[in-house]
This record gives sequence, structure tokens and C-alpha cells, in this order.
Amino acid sequence: MEIVLHPHPDLRRRARPVDKIGDAVRQTAREMADLMFAARGIGLAGNQVAWLRRLVIVCPSGERGAERALVNPEVLAAEGEEIAEEGCLSFPLVYGRVPRAARIRYRYTDLEGKIVEREAEGLEARVVQHEIDHLDGIVFTMRMTPADQFSTRKAVRELERLCRERRGREPAL
Ligand SMILES: [Zn+2]
Repeated sequence: MEIVLHPHPDLRRRARPVDKIGDAVRQTAREMADLMFAARGIGLAGNQVAWLRRLVIVCPSGERGAERALVNPEVLAAEGEEIAEEGCLSFPLVYGRVPRAARIRYRYTDLEGKIVEREAEGLEARVVQHEIDHLDGIVFTMRMTPADQFSTRKAVRELERLCRERRGREPAL
């Protein structure tokens, strides 16, 4: 398992719901959390490891042990708007301001199969919205302010060029 980078096609696909929470899903969640922390991220969605299921890991504090796996998460209510800078593990070196709802109520199933409902604001609200977007095939550059979409264009193109070059090469041994 590895984190895939833009323009990997799975980043633009909609992930399917997880229908059964068993050991395989729990193992996948552990591996995703390992990858996320190794990359110093605070959120990671199934699409980003080319596993098109509705599972995300979030850890707004960035502290190992505080991460939560959200199975089939959904936003139930959203209010207000806040603009803040975001990055994404699938877009290295690309940062831009993204408007998001300031406060949300959301629901998910945890890895024990329990349904959890939470209210969030600040970074937690932002991370959850960013990750649910991933599950719907939406990446953060699509949500950026027009000015930041413009100013990050070059960096995004450069990333596309590097990925094309890497794909063109023979596999390294
Ligand atoms: Zn992301």
C-alpha cells in the first residue's frame, strides 16, 4: 500500500461504502494510519491508497494514538464559512486557501461497528470535510479560492509532469 499522487485516476473516483467491518478493514485502517503518520499527515482517505472504499483516517492533533478511523462518514449539517490554507498528501508542495463550513455535525461508524455522531469546528471540521471530499472524488484544488487555484497552477502542472515521467520509466529494482 502506498499513497498515490495527483493525477492518479482513483483520486477522481467515488469510493463505495464499506459493507462489512471485519479484520480486513481494521488491518487496512492500521496500515493507512501508519502511512499517514509516516508522511506527517493529519488525514488520509481510501482513494489516496487506491482502495476505493469509504474509509478515512483523521487525526487533527497529529498525535499518534489520537487518530480515528471513520467508516462511511457523512456530514449531517454544516454552517458558517471559514477560509484557511490546506495541503494534501496526494499533492506534495501544493498549498492553497480553501473555504469550508466552519462547523459541522457528522456521523460515521467506528471500527467496532458502533455509530458515532460528533460536532466539530476548526481543524477537525476542515479535515473531515477534506477527507469526505476525497471519498466523493473531489480534490482540494477544486475547492480553492480562484486566486489560489491560479497561483498553484504551476506547482500542480509540475506534479503532473513528474508523475508522467515516473510512469514512463522502467520499474526500479
Ligand atoms: Zn487530501
